[in-house]
Amino acid sequence: MSTRKPEPMSIDLLLAYVRLTRSILVSESEIWLNQNVAQDIEKDMRRGLRKHRRGIRLLLTWSDYAICPNPDLHRRYYRYEGLGRFICGKCEELQPFLYKGA
Ligand SMILES: [Zn+2]
Repeated sequence: MSTRKPEPMSIDLLLAYVRLTRSILVSESEIWLNQNVAQDIEKDMRRGLRKHRRGIRLLLTWSDYAICPNPDLHRRYYRYEGLGRFICGKCEELQPFLYKGA
């Protein structure tokens, strides 16, 4: 039996969990977790966030659709930025508020 901790989840899996649990990524160091998220999942998500902090920060900076908290509502504000990237115009409006004091 190994005592080694398993690897933190991939960034894709983390984003999938955020979406599935209807949680919200508010910054590269904070997730507002849905209160129904099981404790072990919460732990894994927070661990994943610590591991992928830089990547998440980039996605937030770009208003990448992958971190959009409300894809259904925001979909009509998506625009194509080229190179396979979509950004969410609604999430973009939040940018001035994202890094206050950062
Ligand atoms: Zn959005």
